[in-house]
Amino acid sequence: MPQNKATGQWTPYNGACPYPSRTEMNQRVIPLADERLLRQLPTIPRELAAPTGQLLDSRGRAVRDLRISVTDRCNFRCVYCMPKAVFDKDYAFLPRESLLSFEEITRLARLFAAHGVSKIRLTGGEPLLRRNLEQLIAQLAAIPGIEVTLTTNGVLLPKKAAALKAAGLQRVTVSLDSLDDAVFRAMNDMDVPVADVLKGIDAATAAGLGPIKINMVVKRGLNDHEILPLARHFRGSGHILRFIEFMDVGSSNGWRMDDVVPSAEVVRRIHAEFPLEPIDPNYTGEVAERWRYKDGGGEIGVISSVTQAFCSTCTRARLSTEGRLYTCLFAQSGHDLRTLLRNGRSDAEVSAAIGHIWQGRGDRYSEIRSAETAALRKIEMSYIGG
Ligand code: SF4
Repeated sequence: MPQNKATGQWTPYNGACPYPSRTEMNQRVIPLADERLLRQLPTIPRELAAPTGQLLDSRGRAVRDLRISVTDRCNFRCVYCMPKAVFDKDYAFLPRESLLSFEEITRLARLFAAHGVSKIRLTGGEPLLRRNLEQLIAQLAAIPGIEVTLTTNGVLLPKKAAALKAAGLQRVTVSLDSLDDAVFRAMNDMDVPVADVLKGIDAATAAGLGPIKINMVVKRGLNDHEILPLARHFRGSGHILRFIEFMDVGSSNGWRMDDVVPSAEVVRRIHAEFPLEPIDPNYTGEVAERWRYKDGGGEIGVISSVTQAFCSTCTRARLSTEGRLYTCLFAQSGHDLRTLLRNGRSDAEVSAAIGHIWQGRGDRYSEIRSAETAALRKIEMSYIGG
């Protein structure tokens, strides 16, 4: 698959891995600038157009999903997201007063709902570390037409699942990168046993938050040998196991192309033991490509940001813990909505600013990924919440 020398762009993957020049992608790059400082004050358009519920960006993509990071802290130090080398004891997490309050988050969520958002996913860091999260969930679940979901590492679910469900949480996604306890402890780098996550999944199921989506980030040479053990474990459980390609998110996980296991290879490995067939997406813009076991053992998904870009149907906006709006997971800077809120701007003004930002959106990072883009300083996943 040729690389366009002039633009450095690669054609998205559709078979064997196409990347000609690997050496460039094998350089470990950890820039140390703090992207949280890069922000733009949103423009408030002169004309405050009322939201129509069908806000489209410059590529005709509607805003449907709002991912809200409610904390930049986590009780794990996953090596591909929050490596200890960077997020150590001296790391400056966001001060409490800079975080959006539940009222500010709910106000913004209401404004996004008027623009067409129908699903809110709470993320982090680890969202269950944010105190009284149930209160926020109850406020968000009260917004008409909004589905509230959450992504967690699962270890706090035994304590919290029932209260989250009672507050209005509809579904939960749990991250689980290995069933092998030694590998799992090494990947979360906080010596947390895998049993704690499995108990969390059981608690969420018992609380009625199922079917649970279970996300495994696959890194070659680290946990790819765990693909089949996880498939065997969750087959027939009713839960949906999804395999995520290791991504060059942020600037601190030392991403290299050689560490990526293409989704096609994941599917091939599973298919060899449990025959699979593709199934249609549940809706346009669904991130995971769906496959089901031919013998009725349920379904799996693959999320292939590196080898099968899905930017053309990307409907996701992201709100950081302190109110920056990001229009792409691989963004380098965000739009400071918190300042508008705290400067007393009206709903009409903040809503118009959101509209203006989204209409100007043209993001398509995964379509243009290259050695140069992989080395860019990008916002951290632990800050923007994946
Ligand atoms: S790379 Fe950016 S634009 Fe593309 S799918 Fe991901 S978040 Fe959306």
